[in-house]
Amino acid sequence: MSINEQMVQDIVQDVLAKMQIASDVQGDRGVFKDMNEAIEAAKASQKIVAKMSLDHREKVISNIRKKIMENAEILARMGVQETGMGNVGHKILKHQLVAEKTPGTEDITTQAWSGDRGLTLIEMGPFGVIGAITPCTNPSETVLCNTIGMFAGGNTVVFNPHPAAIKTSIYAVNLLNEASVEAGGPDNIACTVEHPTLETSNIMMKHPAIQLIAATGGPGVVTAVLSSGRRGIGAGAGNPPALVDETADIRKAAEDIVNGCTFDNNLPCIAEKEIVAVDSIADELMHYMVNEQGCYLASKEEQDALTNVVLAGGKLNRKCVGRDAKTLLGMIGVTVPDNIRCITFEGPKEHPLIATELMMPILGVVRAKDFDDAVEQAVWLEHGNRHSAHIHSKNVDRITKYAKAIDTAILVKNGPSYAALGFGGEGFCTFTIASRTGEGLTSASSFTKRRRCVMTDSLCIR
Ligand code: NAD
Repeated sequence: MSINEQMVQDIVQDVLAKMQIASDVQGDRGVFKDMNEAIEAAKASQKIVAKMSLDHREKVISNIRKKIMENAEILARMGVQETGMGNVGHKILKHQLVAEKTPGTEDITTQAWSGDRGLTLIEMGPFGVIGAITPCTNPSETVLCNTIGMFAGGNTVVFNPHPAAIKTSIYAVNLLNEASVEAGGPDNIACTVEHPTLETSNIMMKHPAIQLIAATGGPGVVTAVLSSGRRGIGAGAGNPPALVDETADIRKAAEDIVNGCTFDNNLPCIAEKEIVAVDSIADELMHYMVNEQGCYLASKEEQDALTNVVLAGGKLNRKCVGRDAKTLLGMIGVTVPDNIRCITFEGPKEHPLIATELMMPILGVVRAKDFDDAVEQAVWLEHGNRHSAHIHSKNVDRITKYAKAIDTAILVKNGPSYAALGFGGEGFCTFTIASRTGEGLTSASSFTKRRRCVMTDSLCIR
């Protein structure tokens, strides 16, 4: 087939795919023209949710889980087609993870004290209507995961999704409301607007019905939410380093790090963005990365060409975010076989492709003279986000030292970064990691407020 025929086929496929997206987005449950209307609908819905039994909430959540499983492929496909970012197979896994491992009402626990003076409980109650701002990198994953947690806590939610992922986000909102209505719950447990903008976001942040805002995205949105005068959960940017020392299983470290880095083309905020390797094992690590893990070793000229494309004019080129390694290399005129899944090179920590959160499979390696130097460089590279960091080491004292120094919400030891989301690791799943405001990995209880219920001089039966 000549290139021209291939190009025509690609265009036809693209048009067909876009038509398919348009026909997929048919429902309009929870979707409003006006942000105020969306908030009012979510408010009315929350009045019903507040009266629902926990058991009924759980029935709705279980139907949501079922629908996510049934729609995982279409959501994954839509996300990739609409945003041009990520990998369909990996996005399917992410949706399955949301369905299976996002905590429901079991996350809402009660604390109790009983004694001579009676019984006191701390109950976790709903905020009411929560405002949520979601990223284009995990659009439907975040909408679905946020709603399960927020609804489990007795809330409803209004989303102002990233405009670049609005169709996918609307599809997810539809699905959530469909699931609720089918399970005997109200419509509009999740609402959004047809055309989210900064203006609709501002309306949401200032609306008196919104007592809590959960922002998942880069530094700009988190700062905006934290300046809004409302309580904010800020899940911001990261630049997670993976530190490798000489006690690690170097071959496995290479495999884990490249697997984590290339997952969904490096879109997850927790994914390995650069490596800091102790000098004595740095060459061995790169040997395994290049010879066994599908890494392409970029020359100095190729690094410069990549920098010019990826950080054109010093700004992150959104056309490169979430693209695979082959496509990125294609952009600088380098053709590689299909088994290439990551681009690597050695450079100083200040190298722009190392110091910047790129969200694409480019994995620079910084050499450190010893472990202490590695910790210092990794802390610098994390830029004080206190988001995520990873380490490959068999020495628990060193792991402890690193954990204290880097002070992140997530620290994966001896595994790929996605183990932190419960994928190949213990624990629950979330796509909102509140690094900046300290909730860490959010779940239903993060979206509740603590209320003290006191009975004096009775109900203690000890
Ligand atoms: P982004 O910051 O461009 O957009 C995120 C959301 O914020 C979008 O809905 C956008 O419309 C909105 N937004 C941006 N600036 C705003 C402002 N000033 N006021 C109100 N709304 C605003 O981010 P993105 O490209 O969609 O996602 C990638 C970024 O998000 C990365 O930095 C990544 O690390 C981060 N992220 C963090 C988490 C986490 O859990 N901590 C999860 C996913 C992504």
